[in-house]
Amino acid sequence: MKRQRAKDDLLHDLNYHCKCCLKKCASDRILSLHEDECSRVPDAPVVFQNQHLVIFEVDGRYPSNRVFAKRLVEVGISLLEQKHPLEDVQLFTFFVLYMRDTSTSVSGLRRLHFAGFFSKEHPASSTSSLACIVILDEFRGYGLGTFLAALSFALSRRSGSPATPERPLSISGQHLYASLWQRLVREHFSRSTCTSVEECSASTGVAVDDVLRALYSMRMIAVKSHHPLAFVERSAATTPTHSPPEATLIWP
Ligand SMILES: [Zn+2]
Repeated sequence: MKRQRAKDDLLHDLNYHCKCCLKKCASDRILSLHEDECSRVPDAPVVFQNQHLVIFEVDGRYPSNRVFAKRLVEVGISLLEQKHPLEDVQLFTFFVLYMRDTSTSVSGLRRLHFAGFFSKEHPASSTSSLACIVILDEFRGYGLGTFLAALSFALSRRSGSPATPERPLSISGQHLYASLWQRLVREHFSRSTCTSVEECSASTGVAVDDVLRALYSMRMIAVKSHHPLAFVERSAATTPTHSPPEATLIWP
């Protein structure tokens, strides 16, 4: 009961964070005045953008990023089911998702609206693809969580180190990853004429164990104990019998 009240208080506090710079204000009125003028987004490299969204790479090791990173952690702890050890922001890089708003700021530029983020430990500390992922309630249901998880594998692929997310996964995380792994593996096998599990892993950024997990779940692989045998039916790669829904990004 006490824990639930603390959680409710944290969620209530979320309403006082600026939707752009995430600064926490003391009241509705102060927040409103602040947001009228605020267009401050992270002073960090953009790693992806299109007409709907922008993703910044905020490295917690840089002093200029610390304040923003700590605000991110405040938001994350409010929304995560299980408190995650994110307190030491210097251990993480944060990939921060903003949606482009339909309104414009006083300078005439389209506003950016914070929508979520995922964190990734620096390679020296961990080899995982993703530590935790947060999407604001108002932005759920558009495939943004899957989009960020897919980005984490693209980053693993680019670094040449296929990886897996940190465990344990939440129930929704298990569903998200099962669907995403199947999609990435299916796409790889549908475009590669002669390939191996290792090549699939390198091409997708998905760890070998998770590639195998996806192949098993789609009945595209079998192993006989006395005569080790693995096979992939290419027809299954293009027309799976059990096809998960496509996790595509949808945004008006
Ligand atoms: Zn602000």
